[in-house]
Amino acid sequence: MGEEEKRAVLEIMESDVLSAFLGGPGPFFGGGAKVQEFERVWAERYGFRHAVSVNSLTSGLVAAIGAVGIEPGDEVICSPYTMSASATCALFYGGIPVFADIDPVTFCLDPISIAARITPRTRAIVVVHLFGHPADMNPILEIARRHNLRVIEDAAQAPGVMYQGKPIGALGDIGGFSLNFHKHIHTGEGGMMVTQDDDLATRSRLIRNHGENVAEQLGVADISNTIGGNYRLTELQAAIGLEQFKRLAGYLTTRQQLAAHLNERLGRIPGLIPPETAPGCTHAFYVYGIKYSAEKIGLSRSLFTKAVLAELPAPQGFEATALVEGYVKPLYFSPVYQRQIAIGRRGFPFTFNSGIRYNYDAGLCPVAERMYREEMLLCPLVREPLTLADMDDFANAVEKVTQNAATIAGAFPDEANTTEVFTPVAAVQRSGIR
Ligand SMILES: *Cc1c(COP(=O)(O)O)cnc(C)c1O
Repeated sequence: MGEEEKRAVLEIMESDVLSAFLGGPGPFFGGGAKVQEFERVWAERYGFRHAVSVNSLTSGLVAAIGAVGIEPGDEVICSPYTMSASATCALFYGGIPVFADIDPVTFCLDPISIAARITPRTRAIVVVHLFGHPADMNPILEIARRHNLRVIEDAAQAPGVMYQGKPIGALGDIGGFSLNFHKHIHTGEGGMMVTQDDDLATRSRLIRNHGENVAEQLGVADISNTIGGNYRLTELQAAIGLEQFKRLAGYLTTRQQLAAHLNERLGRIPGLIPPETAPGCTHAFYVYGIKYSAEKIGLSRSLFTKAVLAELPAPQGFEATALVEGYVKPLYFSPVYQRQIAIGRRGFPFTFNSGIRYNYDAGLCPVAERMYREEMLLCPLVREPLTLADMDDFANAVEKVTQNAATIAGAFPDEANTTEVFTPVAAVQRSGIR
């Protein structure tokens, strides 16, 4: 947050209008001047027909699920290796998340696994552009076309990212970016949905703002799923967002430069595979994902992580921990899927399709499970205000640990071969990864 954001907030404070939304027909159904300007600027910058701001991308994903018309019992193909809302969004409308596996290079949904999960009940795919790298959209869109599926893009971690020269977010039907504190740019909490589809934009706006009061006046014939929440962004947040948005391109460049430097340093170390950027794509490096081989390094991933962290300053306050293991446990291991209890106590929506049993067992998505348990290491340091010198400090620590792996293994024999995932509370709180 700089002087520009502070000035923008003061201007709104002095206007006295901190939010201008009205949950009824009229000019303020779409929010106040700053909200509408923020949406216009974002849409114009990337050539999206519509941008619809929301108070979080979690709200935005729920609105997207509603807008595309998910009904109870509809199956929605999701990634298990992502923030929980990428899948729970389906549950709010009675949709059933069906998890497909991820690609071991991009960590995004694998088109082959998506195809294998399709049933006559499948209606949509929620694609996540994980860590800021685009999913392979062309084959995914082709599968969707063939099976008449809607595609929602969770681009929370990937604002401003390109796939084969085109901006991600609205390559499918509808998508969105997160503006929470941990993301590239933020408004405290917030999100921006984008779409090229007029009808989906209208339906999203209805769901954002008490749509039941307005759908008829807007001439929306199919009023299903148009009952609304209050997912509105305030004028204060929009004013901050407008200033933050100006910084986005520079932030992305910084992250790409820091990551390129790390790629060069870490790419020389046998046992570490730095992140790849697919041809024609850009990478937003929300975090820097390294694949780790315990066998080649000669240390368990958790002992390696502890040893690297011991070489670096301890994070203060909300500073990020330099290295985190595993990212998230594949989502189907969480109780909502293990016990199949989401809405009420009788198993809705998992029990909605009689005779169908949903599989959330271990082994369902072997690549995601392997990344979580064995291979994935995340470095969240590739961001402003850190510098190339900071990247060198990190790479030096990694090098020192790998060069002294045998000594470290000898000193901590119990931990040298453990397969436990090291997630101290502090690392979770401070990882800066959501
Ligand atoms: C952050 C995040 C979300 C949720 O965004 P909020 O704005 O915090 O609600 C959804 N999906 C992914 C992949 C995220 O990283």
